[in-house]
Amino acid sequence: MAPALPRRLLPWLRTPPSSSSAAAFSSAPSRGCPLHAALARRGAPAAASLALYARIREEASPPTPFTFSLLLAALASSSSSSSSSPSPSPSAGCARLAAACLAHAQAFKCGALAHPVVTNSLLKLYCSLGLLDRARRVLYSGGAALDVVSWNTMVSGYGKGGDLDAAREVFAGMPERSLVSWSAMVDACVRAGEFGEALWVFDRMMREEFRPDVVVLVSVLKACAHLGAVERGRWVHRYLETGSFGGRRGNLMLETALVDMYCKCGCMEDAWQVFDGVHRRDVVLWNAMISGLAMNGYGERALELFRRMLQKGFMPNESTFIAVLCACTHTGRVDEGKRVFKSMQDYGIKPQREHYGCLADLLGRAGNVEEAEALLLDMPMEPHASQWGALMSSCQMHNDINVGERVGKRLIELEPYDGGRYVVLFNLYAVNGRWEEARTIRQMMEDRGAKKETGLSFIEWNGLVHEFISGDTRHPLTRKIYALLEDIERRLQLIGYVKDTSQVIMDMDDEEDKGIALSYHSERLALAFGILNIPQGVPIRIVKNLRVCRDCHVHSKLVSKLYEREIIVRDRHRFHVFRDGVCSCNDYW
Ligand SMILES: [Zn+2]
Ligand SMILES: [Zn+2]
Repeated sequence: MAPALPRRLLPWLRTPPSSSSAAAFSSAPSRGCPLHAALARRGAPAAASLALYARIREEASPPTPFTFSLLLAALASSSSSSSSSPSPSPSAGCARLAAACLAHAQAFKCGALAHPVVTNSLLKLYCSLGLLDRARRVLYSGGAALDVVSWNTMVSGYGKGGDLDAAREVFAGMPERSLVSWSAMVDACVRAGEFGEALWVFDRMMREEFRPDVVVLVSVLKACAHLGAVERGRWVHRYLETGSFGGRRGNLMLETALVDMYCKCGCMEDAWQVFDGVHRRDVVLWNAMISGLAMNGYGERALELFRRMLQKGFMPNESTFIAVLCACTHTGRVDEGKRVFKSMQDYGIKPQREHYGCLADLLGRAGNVEEAEALLLDMPMEPHASQWGALMSSCQMHNDINVGERVGKRLIELEPYDGGRYVVLFNLYAVNGRWEEARTIRQMMEDRGAKKETGLSFIEWNGLVHEFISGDTRHPLTRKIYALLEDIERRLQLIGYVKDTSQVIMDMDDEEDKGIALSYHSERLALAFGILNIPQGVPIRIVKNLRVCRDCHVHSKLVSKLYEREIIVRDRHRFHVFRDGVCSCNDYW
């Protein structure tokens, strides 16, 4: 189709059609018309859809609401199909936008917006183009007929666009709600990272006696996975097993979400059970199980499962290789990791930034920091700050000041307002006695007003997720928690625990502020809460947003022995299972 077509159509589209009464449209015999059938095909360029519409106006009977809903849907599909292509040209974007405006104007002139089906197609089109303000204007203009789908489209549009506040507002103002409305709202919360709110919205939905479907349950499982809320996750699992739900058997999306949730909560037995029970697997499910094993420290078993997947004839994809490289990293298998990386081309997969990052992390952790640095510098794309950050941890772990200094400075350049970046370089200088440089870095951090990310830990108990920040005093059990922590400190001292004083300046230590003597890192507060509430024999599960610091790691190991508790901590990078004084990561994290 000629690209100049929309311009040729413009004058023609400006003339109003002969009749503007909505009733006249709906009676037109549009179904079965070959032009309409052509318009219904998805993925055509916007200009082609407009040209079809023009022909319908010329040759067939006047356009009906059906015509407009087809036209608007065709334009929406043309936009989404082109936006997934690697580089949508700006002119194509303009053409879609112009086409959308023309179609909107025509629908308006013809009075087709008196039909909710047409309004909804228009809203979907604007949302798919990211034009949420325009969609909003249609919704609140008063000139378009609406139904519950219109509101749902708007909530979901804001959710996908990451604007949770706007989604909340539209959701709150809805005249009536359907299952899809609730599901869109839960999804909006999950996308915005408000996992606790997602569960709260889901609870409200259940109280209003909506029966959840696959879509909303997958979102709920995602929220549980992020919060480490395994009891809630188990509830979903039980719900799926009961007759009230159509049964999860055969629903791969749900089964994968269950495996992922159990893995991210550190419940490997349960994850295995679900995984083994699935008869028709796909590569996404294999990936979930392999990366779950790797993340939980079972590198050997992850690699075994990868081999089994290949034996069964499944084609690995990009995510599979990330999981497998991660498994090699956690078990320190440098040679195998290099082999796996090389083998990617045998499957026709070009290594992406993440794959280079994984390999560099593997090399760095194993002590080959120079090789890792060279890999990051030579890779065909620009590495992300997080990849340099991983190398920086390796430099710290192996106390390599030469590479560490270069990487540390680069990180500060890349993220000048992330205080954590200064802290690691400061510590590296300090540990090596280079005080002058350490002080300069500290001064630079203060001058720029760079802040450290707040440490957050979550623990689930009795269906509620409790959140703690460093030195938190907001929890109703604060007094008991601090009393227990002091008691733990005393008992630990008796068995020879000495606070890690190798850290030169306390408040520059690691990622989290220690602050005053009595304030504790967030995971210790969560741990004390767990000991106080969770019965003996039940593991204490904590999710933390930052990396666990050395001192807390020692602390957790000793507490696991002293109190005979299994403590499972998921930090930013991996799982730590503390049992009888040792950790599953073998102090390698
Ligand atoms: Zn700590
Ligand atoms: Zn550990």
